[in-house]
Amino acid sequence: MDELDLINLKKQARVAAATGDKARAIQLYTEALAQTPDDDNAIMELVPLLDDEDEKRDYLKRVLRISPYNEEAKAALAALEGTVTAAAAPRPEIEVLHCYYHPHRETRLRCNKCGKPICTECAIRTPVGYRCPDCVRELQDKFYTAGSGDVVKGAVMALAGGLLVGLATYLTILILGQFLFFGFLASFFLGPALGGGVAELVRRAMGKRRARNFPIIGDIAFLVGVFIIAIPSGLFFWSLFSIGMAALLIILAASALYARLKF
Ligand SMILES: [Zn+2]
Ligand SMILES: [Zn+2]
Repeated sequence: MDELDLINLKKQARVAAATGDKARAIQLYTEALAQTPDDDNAIMELVPLLDDEDEKRDYLKRVLRISPYNEEAKAALAALEGTVTAAAAPRPEIEVLHCYYHPHRETRLRCNKCGKPICTECAIRTPVGYRCPDCVRELQDKFYTAGSGDVVKGAVMALAGGLLVGLATYLTILILGQFLFFGFLASFFLGPALGGGVAELVRRAMGKRRARNFPIIGDIAFLVGVFIIAIPSGLFFWSLFSIGMAALLIILAASALYARLKF
């Protein structure tokens, strides 16, 4: 067996240990140690996997024969012998990593997709755990598939929807402006319904594809459409109540549009 095989053997043992397959990890470490009995690092990795205390003790003594100053082995042996409590024994050091994006920053966090070490500043919390910025961008690219043509179509549709909602606002205030209760009630229900309807048309115009920042672009185009009709109609000068009704309807419509475009 050459050196590379041995390294692989230990790597497999580590993977088995990390995934909780203790029996296989022990078997692989034992195989590796049969090749290189003086590998104290391999022994120190093997010892925590063992259940038998005598066996642990024998291995730790072996480590101390190989390297008499191995503090970790001394502490572990002392804990086993009961001379110090296990809690007082120094814990084996947790691996210190360095952030992939900030090489001078120490961290213990890894991206759970690609395994890159990342600091808390770089880590992005996702529903599936902490991810690095690269993996998050990759995920977003799969999500945002709309081309610039789709964005233009979507914006034009949002503008057209805005013109219609502007007209609907004008008519609502014209008809119900004097009836406070019915005017506000109509605005309260019409706003979200019209905004949701425009969102559906916009999403169809875009072939249901999404673009980064489109919810904002779409909403702006929509509001431009609304005000092209609403402002020249003069309804904002009719009365304070008509301004209130119109504002309620337009704000609710724009919010509903934004929310529906976002998801
Ligand atoms: Zn990653
Ligand atoms: Zn960082």
